[in-house]
Amino acid sequence: MATKTAGQLFDKVLIANRGEIALRIQRACRELGIKTVVVHSEIDADAKYVRLSDESVCIGPASSALSYLNIPAIISAAEVTDAQAIHPGYGFLSENADFAEKVEKSGFVFIGPRPDTIRLMGDKVSAKVAMTKAGVPCVPGSEGALPDDPKEIVRVARTVKYPVIIKAAAGGGGRGMRVVHTEAALLPAVSLTRAEANAAFGNQTVYMERYLDNPRHIEIQVLADEHKNAVYLFERDCSMQRRHQKIIEEAPAPGIPMRLLERIGERCAEACRKIGYRGAGTFEFLFQEEQFYFIEMNTRIQVEHPVTELVTGIDIVQQQIRVAAGQKLVFRQREIARRGHAIECRINAEDPETFVPSPGRITSYHAPGGPGIRVDSHVYQNYLVPPNYDSMVGKVIAYGDTRQQAIARMRIALSEMVVEGIKTNIPLHQDLLLDDSFLRGGTSIHYLEERMAKRKA
Ligand code: ADP
Repeated sequence: MATKTAGQLFDKVLIANRGEIALRIQRACRELGIKTVVVHSEIDADAKYVRLSDESVCIGPASSALSYLNIPAIISAAEVTDAQAIHPGYGFLSENADFAEKVEKSGFVFIGPRPDTIRLMGDKVSAKVAMTKAGVPCVPGSEGALPDDPKEIVRVARTVKYPVIIKAAAGGGGRGMRVVHTEAALLPAVSLTRAEANAAFGNQTVYMERYLDNPRHIEIQVLADEHKNAVYLFERDCSMQRRHQKIIEEAPAPGIPMRLLERIGERCAEACRKIGYRGAGTFEFLFQEEQFYFIEMNTRIQVEHPVTELVTGIDIVQQQIRVAAGQKLVFRQREIARRGHAIECRINAEDPETFVPSPGRITSYHAPGGPGIRVDSHVYQNYLVPPNYDSMVGKVIAYGDTRQQAIARMRIALSEMVVEGIKTNIPLHQDLLLDDSFLRGGTSIHYLEERMAKRKA
């Protein structure tokens, strides 16, 4: 390993998140010898990671708007505890450029990219423009935002070719999108998406893309430091989705030739160098007929990062912290190898058929284990799953030499796992782990919903 030059590590990091990722970040800090402070809402006061943390600060009531999104309260907590850096996790304020800016203006290090990078990539129109310039292939579509002139919109759609998808520049979480199949439906759809985008995100800017009918969701994990080094940690396949929410993720993506992955990976790393990216990030692509089409970049750690950690042996959260402290990446691209196969099942507190959230008390809990099994979860027996937040209660990640072995281990793990008192989507996972198409690998983003529709019929 090369020697580290810049950047002594922090003494204390504040974790501005909750749930499994708060515990995950805490574990990374402890391994690096860094003390932790967690901020929490009143309803999370008894959480495991709050008890395990060196310090904790209650920042407000259960409602996220008053706690996990409460910027002044989080910054005050960092001040009173003498933390030096803030890790935002995922969701909440993790991609909020104003938060990152306030953190830095208050004298703390934001563990993530610079605020202007978050802003650039947070607006999907400016992100696409920047990526096109950096040589990353994008979905064909409007050049930037759609104009107001209806005639112009019709003309753009004819060039892009139907079906098209109208997307909000500020959209996220699968919201603010509408597919249009015919010219007759175009203008009403644009108006509706603008209105929805304005209501949901306070920004009515929309853009247009060709709607790809049968793509896979393939994403590239990157790491970059402040010294112009950037590497890619290969890909993840996150095509198993419902309503644009990922359910199962895996690495490698079945059946995609290494030369294509290396080519797109190198483009992503080069784009990071060009825009001066710092930290961990993910380039999300749709993949169809052997082509990658950029759709957006996530400028934060992702839920599915463990599958990449298992196949590359690199602790991505620790790397985020090191890079934020000013350290250089200690590995070069050619030193990064991928070995074996990893699959992640997101365990959600919800009905496995209707997907209705199922918060409440976990009356009985047993986590699986054994060779190749990793469980990232903050829950335990008697834990009360609050109704206020995301329904994900943990992740089971299985590693094997081959995809087949990873799947076999995941099946065993889920059969051992006990979560009683609430409903979970474990039965759905068990069902999918026996599905012929999933077993063959390479299903599209529409697969799960089409399968559910067929079963209903
Ligand atoms: P968000 O930020 O809301 O997650 P994305 O731009 O990442 O929005 O798109 C979310 C999902 O919407 C994608 O994973 C894909 O399923 C679908 N989607 C987005 N753009 C297209 C497109 N051009 N063609 C087909 N599907 C798309």
